[in-house]
Amino acid sequence: MRRRFLSIFLVIILICLTISSIYADSIYIVKKGDVLWKIAEEGKTTWHELTKINNLKNPHQIYPGQVLKLKDGVTDSNKDISELDMYIGEGKGCYGTIQVGVSLEGDKIKDILILEHNESPGVGEIATKIIAEEIIKHQSIAVDAVAGCTKSSSGVLAAVEQALGKAGVNINDYWKEVDKSITQIRGKIEKKADVIVIGAGGAGLAAAVSAHQNGAKVLVLEKMPLVGGNTIISGAAYNAVDPKRQSALGIEDSIEKHYTQTYEGGDKLAKPELVRTLVEKAYPALEWLESMGMKFKDDIFTVLGALWPRSHNPVKPIGTGYIETYMEYINKHSSDIEIMLSTKATELIVENGRVVGAEAENPENIVIAKANNGVIIATGGFGANINARNHYNKMWPDLTNLKTTNRPGATGDGMWMAENIGANLIGMEQIQLLPTGEPNTGSLSGSIGHSVEDRMFVNKDGNRFIDEGAKRDVMTKALFQQRDSWMWIIVDKKSYPTGDTKNNFDETIDFLVEEGIAFKADTLEELAVKIGVDPINLVKSVETFNKAVEKEIEDPFGRTLFKNKIDTAPYYAGARTPTVHHTMGGIEINTKAQVLDKDGKVIKGLYAAGEATGGIHGSNRLGGNAVPDTVVFGKIAGESAAKDNPNL
Ligand SMILES: Cc1cc2nc3c(=O)[nH]c(=O)nc-3n(C[C@H](O)[C@H](O)[C@H](O)COP(=O)(O)OP(=O)(O)OC[C@H]3O[C@@H](n4cnc5c(N)ncnc54)[C@H](O)[C@@H]3O)c2cc1C
Repeated sequence: MRRRFLSIFLVIILICLTISSIYADSIYIVKKGDVLWKIAEEGKTTWHELTKINNLKNPHQIYPGQVLKLKDGVTDSNKDISELDMYIGEGKGCYGTIQVGVSLEGDKIKDILILEHNESPGVGEIATKIIAEEIIKHQSIAVDAVAGCTKSSSGVLAAVEQALGKAGVNINDYWKEVDKSITQIRGKIEKKADVIVIGAGGAGLAAAVSAHQNGAKVLVLEKMPLVGGNTIISGAAYNAVDPKRQSALGIEDSIEKHYTQTYEGGDKLAKPELVRTLVEKAYPALEWLESMGMKFKDDIFTVLGALWPRSHNPVKPIGTGYIETYMEYINKHSSDIEIMLSTKATELIVENGRVVGAEAENPENIVIAKANNGVIIATGGFGANINARNHYNKMWPDLTNLKTTNRPGATGDGMWMAENIGANLIGMEQIQLLPTGEPNTGSLSGSIGHSVEDRMFVNKDGNRFIDEGAKRDVMTKALFQQRDSWMWIIVDKKSYPTGDTKNNFDETIDFLVEEGIAFKADTLEELAVKIGVDPINLVKSVETFNKAVEKEIEDPFGRTLFKNKIDTAPYYAGARTPTVHHTMGGIEINTKAQVLDKDGKVIKGLYAAGEATGGIHGSNRLGGNAVPDTVVFGKIAGESAAKDNPNL
């Protein structure tokens, strides 16, 4: 009997071993205390890849018992789709076709795989997955689009609808109204951390990392379903006086020059001590990012309105490098740093004259988040809040119908929360418009301008009208004077040596031409005809521009930033109009990122960083100065809040 029992036991062990050896390479069951990056390392992959193949909505919230795929056996584009038991559908996203595979169980949508897409990393890409999950959850294609990712969302919805059509089910059954009533009955939960950060954009994540490096446990509240804010979609240009890269390229620069250009570029309306902090700490902050693994290219350029070649470009596309760097750190320390997504902070909690937390809400709960040490507001600007920008606007024509480069989360919430408890808001009328918005969307994507030095602007008549290296407000004011406030950016082959050369927003020039966003021609005359401007004027404008590059003449518009002539086919043109870009005003802080009240006194327990603050850029922010602002002051805010002792 004993021997029989032993042999049955051995057989079971053998079966288990066989099963685990089959699956060992492909799945992992999460244990208590596991963090995604460690699992990734052991599985010889990356946390990013695991997030992708497991459709993880929130990569730092894995739970014991959860089964993770270590390899992507299904979304592998090399795999023959016909082998998979699913219906394929296609829809148009932001950047081309989104292909999905829908599998059904009876009439029920069992799974949706995003098989192919070209959506922007960290933004549209994540939205496709969120929408797929929502469709499955509600068994409906009438779900809401992810805010700020409408095209990616509708691409998935159209693709799923097509796939369902192929499956021969009754499509009307999947157009049912989504019942959200269950999620509207909210509970109430309490959370505690040393430091509470509101906003998971660049400044908020920098603050979270820095607070943790200074010994704090951190809770981050983010109202959108994904991290990154405007930072992740930014052009990512980072101004810093760089002792290595600039001197290697023979660019003369100094902290003093960066200070003067920033202060005077903002019409001397910024707080000098904040400008000084920004320019002095911009390079050490860049080194801080590098110490966490972030990589910057060696090339230095002049981003639009930067006034000087000191803009650094990350290796990773758009702003993803910053956000991925912070998130890798946060994932490594996920037991100490928690991020609550889709959780909107609504007000600050003040007890005995000190800010001790924030109240927030998400579909499931009211969240009372209490802070032992401090609360950091990093909610960004208010460029996407039409009422607020009209209320404060004094510099521009009516802004109601102007589009914005910003994501929908940029509504200034943190400023109003801070003001409600007595914080001082400064420079609120300083709203930055750019001359380079995409006419239909206001977005910066699609712009064919690379570096200031290599491109030229002409109006609808084919004439130049401004120094293209001028301050942003000067260029935009000049653009408002042109017919239909419309201009064309003109560049040549030197900006795009091959069709797959990308612009600053990770789009190839071939894609932009195919989509009708950019126009391409072998001669300037042909280009003029394509874009409907006078060919004689365009040719003359380019000739004069080229003479100024060669220093044969003084540039008629006073431009000094030149590098290459525009003389090599193919030539490209892209249309641009004014767009709302940045709000320079916000919460007044000191150099420790402490929030000040209307009498200039520190509000205990409250800190702010990034575009939520004012006083750093004056009336006009230099291009490439906002990202370093988020890193420098985010880092300072994190450190200050972590070290804040309420008992002192
Ligand atoms: C298209 C574009 C391109 C740009 N390019 C450059 C560039 O090349 N170089 C440069 O220096 N600057 C650039 N900028 C400006 C720069 O990117 C921003 O100023 C900066 O990223 C703002 O960072 P932030 O952390 O302050 O705000 P954000 O990154 O916008 O983050 C704020 C976060 O707070 C969240 N939030 C808001 N309200 C709440 C609430 N109530 N509760 C919880 N969370 C909330 C938001 O959802 C968001 O995630 C660009 C901006 C845009 C829009």
